[in-house]
Amino acid sequence: IYKRSSQLFAEAEKVIPGGVNSPVRAFKAVGGTPIFVKSAKGAYLLDEDGNKLIDYINSWGPMVLGHAYQPVVDAVIEKAKLGTSFGMPTELETEIAALAVSMVPNIDKIRFVNSGTEACMSAIRLARGFTKRDKIIKFAGCYHGHSDSFLIQAGSGAVTFGSPNSPGVTEGTAKDTLLAKYNDLDNVATLIEANKNEIAAIIVEPVAGNMGCIVPQKGFLQGLRDLCTANGILLIFDEVMTGFRLARGGVQELFNVNADIVTFGKVIGGGLPVGAFAAREEIMNYLAPLGPVYQAGTLSGNPLAMAAGLAMLKALNNEPAIFDRLEEKTAYLAAGIDRVLKANNVIFTINRVGSMISVHFDENPVVDFQTAAKGDNETFKKFFHGLLQEGIYIAPSAYETWFITDALTYEDLDYTINAIDKVSKTF
Ligand code: PLP
Repeated sequence: IYKRSSQLFAEAEKVIPGGVNSPVRAFKAVGGTPIFVKSAKGAYLLDEDGNKLIDYINSWGPMVLGHAYQPVVDAVIEKAKLGTSFGMPTELETEIAALAVSMVPNIDKIRFVNSGTEACMSAIRLARGFTKRDKIIKFAGCYHGHSDSFLIQAGSGAVTFGSPNSPGVTEGTAKDTLLAKYNDLDNVATLIEANKNEIAAIIVEPVAGNMGCIVPQKGFLQGLRDLCTANGILLIFDEVMTGFRLARGGVQELFNVNADIVTFGKVIGGGLPVGAFAAREEIMNYLAPLGPVYQAGTLSGNPLAMAAGLAMLKALNNEPAIFDRLEEKTAYLAAGIDRVLKANNVIFTINRVGSMISVHFDENPVVDFQTAAKGDNETFKKFFHGLLQEGIYIAPSAYETWFITDALTYEDLDYTINAIDKVSKTF
């Protein structure tokens, strides 16, 4: 059923190293051909072979209201027709900045870049400049983009890059990166003690979504907050995946813990390339005298992307019930999966926070990089391919998160639960 996708993949491999962009790596883990998508609307994808699929990958997170969400499409078309001049100020950038700042707690100013990777790089650079220190603590399994030291044990996305022998990663690349264990405050405290007055920032995915969905243990984020405050370290919440998805104000609102710098990507661009980093005024003002080139690129804040992002944030801001619906739909799906897998005597773990979910065919939730590096087990592979046959496209690895969108209907969810029931009988 993926004849045309196979042909297209073969063509792509001739001109694009490794084939195409995501999700090739994950596909290698489960086997099979990446599916080439012709069009996407709401909760569905139409692939090049003519199959209609219920989509739980969601462009890896941004399309929280579904694909081709009409207000976003309209805003982009209108702006494109008007014509744009990249690199010149537009009202749109100020408008989306003001809206984002009003939605997210504890931030006064925000700067736009082109991706989540850039947002995290900029946040680290800001933290280093502001504190006049160089070292950062990151967590094994947390992914902050495809740059330099972020790749070291970054999660499933960096297994190949992050291993010591991989090309392009030298000891020097990561020399200021200290690696800590997620959910392990003692480990963090020990690293701080051993590097007194040298650590600029701790960067964390406040809900780790790049190793499946890993839930922060109670007290972990507040513990980081306290350690940072006590030691003059800035706490960076990488909300590229969680921002404008888990709550209107992101994880700071959800768990009531404040960060010093927050990074965004995915949802904030409404599907177009936008990243952003934000902080309180006294931190962000560090950038003001440095001039725009310090943190800006040709396409940063470009009007098309700003139009898409603004339409998306407006929709989320105007209807707070969206976040309740996302939560309810995801809880319904998770409960349904739990029910049918138990009824079929399958060993599994479901992790969930808000509209992010992952399903593992292991007794214990996956919480470490070493386990993820071993790859998916045979049951997951059967699960993935079985669901694909039923017209359901989940992330092709248990170490990736499923994203639930508001466009999914309860009919879609029931169909999915029934399909999982059917597939799990074949394990
Ligand atoms: N940070 C987190 C938490 C992410 O999930 C991602 C992407 O998946 C990134 C950073 C990098 O963002 P981008 O892929 O837009 O560069």
